[in-house]
Amino acid sequence: MTLVPVEEHLARCLAGVAPLPPLDVSLLDALDCVLAEDVVSAIDLPAFDNSSMDGYAVVVDDVTHASADAPVVLPVVGDLPAGVREVHRLTRGSAVRIMTGAPVPPGATGVVPVELTDAGLARVTIHEPVPDGKNIRRIGEDVNTGELLLQAGTRLGPRQIGLLAATGHGHVRVYPRPRVVVMSTGSEIIEPGRRPGFGQVSDSNSYALTAAVLDSGAIAMRVGIVEDDPRRLMSTLEDQLMRADMVITTGGVSAGAYDTVKEVLSTLGTVQFDKVAMQPGMPQGFGLLGSSRGSDSSGAGKPIFTLPGNPVSSYISFEVFVRPALRKMMGESQLHRPVVTARAERSWGSPPGKRQYNRVELRRTDDEYGPGYRARPFKGPGSHLVADLAKSNALAVVPEDVTQVREGDEVRCMLLERGRR
Ligand code: AMP
Ligand code: MG
Repeated sequence: MTLVPVEEHLARCLAGVAPLPPLDVSLLDALDCVLAEDVVSAIDLPAFDNSSMDGYAVVVDDVTHASADAPVVLPVVGDLPAGVREVHRLTRGSAVRIMTGAPVPPGATGVVPVELTDAGLARVTIHEPVPDGKNIRRIGEDVNTGELLLQAGTRLGPRQIGLLAATGHGHVRVYPRPRVVVMSTGSEIIEPGRRPGFGQVSDSNSYALTAAVLDSGAIAMRVGIVEDDPRRLMSTLEDQLMRADMVITTGGVSAGAYDTVKEVLSTLGTVQFDKVAMQPGMPQGFGLLGSSRGSDSSGAGKPIFTLPGNPVSSYISFEVFVRPALRKMMGESQLHRPVVTARAERSWGSPPGKRQYNRVELRRTDDEYGPGYRARPFKGPGSHLVADLAKSNALAVVPEDVTQVREGDEVRCMLLERGRR
């Protein structure tokens, strides 16, 4: 069997998924989702001229000559707390007490902060002049009616949610979070927390991948372990397909006997099993799977990723193939992890003809190579070595034609940062 290049398998995975149909959601449900349409403001912001200080609205010409020695005294003809609905015109020779955020009365040309006055209620003594327009926040100064606030494709974080709320949007149209079913397969796999008998292994894949799905911003639905039994697997897949936008399985895709996932899916859907030219994670499957009960809206079936069983392989396969596909479904345009160039702190080997994703610990330093990143490899490439995986924070991506990375060589590293970037 010839090896399929990583790029080719990735392209097939990405071609098999599409952004989910957009949905109107309430603002807080939109956090970290991508906007599906431009948002335009229906209002001016501020919506009315208002005071930026607690103080007195005046006609500034009345206080031009005010000083500590010769203060200006004005009658206070009104009181304006924030939220006041009715505002009367201010005429020369008078002042209105005003609070931050209250509408500035028409006729007023500035607000004298309370600190520059005696804070009088019936009459106010003003010790300093204020320039024209001082302490007035003007209508439309921030946002104009009809202005483009946020472009389609923008991911909504706290600041964008704040802007939408400020401009009166209670709902917003976004790409919804995909619901992703994660299941481990294998008759030797048991729930963590139980004491493994001889030959048994605690399920780490479905936990790591469920966490990775959540971390990428999607909704994860972890299914209990499915033993290597074709009928159990088939009925579990049937059940789960109903509620999923994507299914991820691990295990059972190598060339051995009892490789149930491969056996079952070879006869169902469009799943194609390939050996991908990478280390780790060579056996990969991807395709679309429809449910015989009911049908999904597209009719095409749900994307299913069958990842290898070894824990390091399944996690790295998620990073390389599944996460970009999930991001595409969420409407993101930047599908891939950020990459930096680092220098290898030690040398290591890489298999010929395969792209290696080597776990490294990346740190920023300033040494004989100057300021930059250094990548420290771990003890070996074994795809069962989860302790080193947990210590790593990046994957060094070694090209197919490189068999030896030497100390000091530049390597490209994918940053495995937390969060939905
Ligand atoms: P498989 O792909 O099913 O042949 O599994 C390859 C290796 O990964 C075997 O050593 C399995 O025991 C191990 N493995 C498979 N699934 C899991 C899992 N969910 N958690 C931990 N190890 C696993
Ligand atoms: Mg197995």
